[in-house]
Amino acid sequence: VSVISDRINALEAPQTIEMAKKARALAAQGVDVISLSFGEPDFQTPQYIKDAAKQAIDEGFTFYTPVPGIPQLRQAICDKLKRDNNLDYQPDSIVVSTGAKQALANAVLALVNPGDEVIIFSPFWVSYEEMVKLAEGVTVRLEGALENDYKVTAAQLEAAITPRTKLVMYSSPCNPTGAVWSRQELADIAAVLARHPQVLVVADEIYEYINFVGEHASLAQFEEVKDQVVTVNGFSKGYAMTGWRIGYLAARPDIAAACDKLQSQVTSATCSITQRAALAALQGGRASADEMVAAYRRRRDLVLEMVKDIPGFVTPTPEGAFYIFPDVSAYFGKLTPAGDTITTSRELALYLLNDAHVAAVDGGAFGAPRCLRFSTAAADDKLIEAFRRIALSLAKLH
Ligand code: PLP
Repeated sequence: VSVISDRINALEAPQTIEMAKKARALAAQGVDVISLSFGEPDFQTPQYIKDAAKQAIDEGFTFYTPVPGIPQLRQAICDKLKRDNNLDYQPDSIVVSTGAKQALANAVLALVNPGDEVIIFSPFWVSYEEMVKLAEGVTVRLEGALENDYKVTAAQLEAAITPRTKLVMYSSPCNPTGAVWSRQELADIAAVLARHPQVLVVADEIYEYINFVGEHASLAQFEEVKDQVVTVNGFSKGYAMTGWRIGYLAARPDIAAACDKLQSQVTSATCSITQRAALAALQGGRASADEMVAAYRRRRDLVLEMVKDIPGFVTPTPEGAFYIFPDVSAYFGKLTPAGDTITTSRELALYLLNDAHVAAVDGGAFGAPRCLRFSTAAADDKLIEAFRRIALSLAKLH
């Protein structure tokens, strides 16, 4: 018998990490694997941010900090939310955490009771559903249509809300689809939520800066629903700070206090040095992010251009983040040269890993089993080589 709790046995391991493991194992055998499975900027953290961390160490800033973050950082986050998003928050609404991931987990665990329904816009980021499971909530997947770039609409939301609905979760820009909900689309969603004041929302804006359409809209900007919205954001994507582990949420003070309470019993504050680095990041504004975004946009265009020539890949144009998410179901039922039938996107991902030596992630992990996710956060020459190989391997399927 397993000594592991039912709670943990019921959890899935993230497939993003599983594919990366398989790719590493192949690479260890000397195979030239191109890994497009991880959602990670390939840029270094900007130098001015690294310098602030070094300075924090040299000044001896090495002690526990207040659980929800140092006051200067919480204030700087309020200033950022005002400057970028026109949101008015006081520092008691801000909880700084060990990554946006912990901010999301804090919010879910602080809000969801056993049996509560949580509507997740699908395709969705892998961890949302597992966090809801930990909270013993019931996930309700609400699927966006391919024709609408996978964006769930206000009318769909209205139809999915029941008396048991407690929470709605989505990301915009979306991982995995790259979809960006427009101000009007969010206004329509806000109008639905205003009619259901018992429904709360976690709006994951971690990809805010990686936006190719220009305007990022926040659901909390709609005054009538502001108190229902928990806005999650962080530094991993926009400032290329994945390893530093810092993110935050902004919510009305009672929700923020509940997240602070949970975090105080689980991890306490995130790293003191990281907090000083994040403070510097915000003080530097978004110039460094804008440089990286120019590269992400160029790569998106490059990849879309190559994917256009791959038969059977149906790909909406991503408006943000750094993924492409083609529907690959045209390949289901085809035979590999070894005589195996491809029946799922997972099998197609494994075939591409073994034949093209390119690692992607099965869309099933994101609630979209007809799709594959490829990260475009890689050097241009790697992307060119990857999609050249993918096209060759796919051409061998009959
Ligand atoms: N939300 C989404 C949609 C993500 O893709 C990720 C990272 O992959 C996160 C949250 C977590 O980010 P962090 O590194 O800040 O924990």
